[in-house]
Amino acid sequence: MALAPTPPSGFSRPVGYNHSVIDAHVHLFPDRLFDAIWRWFDQHAWTIRYKVYADEVIDHLEAANNDFVVALQYAHNPGMAEDLNAWMGELARRRPVVIPCATVHPHDDDLLGILRRAKETHGARLVKQHCHVLGIAPDDPVMFPLYEACVTLQLPLNLHVGNGPKLVGYGSPTDEVSGARRTQVVLERFPELRLVVPHLGCMEESTFIGWLDRYPNLYLDTSMAMVPFIEGMEISGREALADHANRVMFGTDFPNIPFELGAERAAVQALGFDDNTLQAIFHDTAAALFLAR
Ligand SMILES: [Zn+2]
Repeated sequence: MALAPTPPSGFSRPVGYNHSVIDAHVHLFPDRLFDAIWRWFDQHAWTIRYKVYADEVIDHLEAANNDFVVALQYAHNPGMAEDLNAWMGELARRRPVVIPCATVHPHDDDLLGILRRAKETHGARLVKQHCHVLGIAPDDPVMFPLYEACVTLQLPLNLHVGNGPKLVGYGSPTDEVSGARRTQVVLERFPELRLVVPHLGCMEESTFIGWLDRYPNLYLDTSMAMVPFIEGMEISGREALADHANRVMFGTDFPNIPFELGAERAAVQALGFDDNTLQAIFHDTAAALFLAR
């Protein structure tokens, strides 16, 4: 994968939009998992600028004036989701800025029960998984119980299905376990699933943005998509994003980013959207999806 030679810098505090902000794509893991993820990134991806643990991540995000942050973590093996979901729930009770996710592995026993407990006991407001990390394609039938459970429990699913970044450290080539074509099977087969595709679909942005018209329960987040860092990411369809701003959410991917925390926000603001569009992207879409009872 080609990356920009120098991570963009020089973005300081955003200007021009001073309303409420929800960061819809933040990663919070227990310390030992952060350590493992950072080792993996050092070897296979980019140098993470902020190697800080969960509470310090939240401190940074609060200092950046986020009203809420959508906290994401994923189980990469069966048998670990229950502990992760309990940890996330405890963290959210302690730090109320956190909107907690649940995770589950497709090969876990009692997938529906794990997600039901995460919602009812630990307050989860969405589910997170990552097809590259799983090495399982979105259209693999082994994933279908996950989609059914999310529909049953009325939990949105943030699923990394874009075929980028094409990092070689994953077990399978990303084209085999992700991509727009494999995602469309899910959109067609599970129309009630509220599916959040992160990074605007990472490498096939124009396809995913175009599908906002066709699939009313498709949502996109902007994390790492607006800052010119991953080569091959092209953001066209600016008007389509504005037309569907009620299904587009700002996110940063913090802390696993190589550039400044403020860069993504400044890049979204630089697109020149009107204030109503910015209000939706920065706050209202995520509030409606994750905070409404
Ligand atoms: Zn992420």
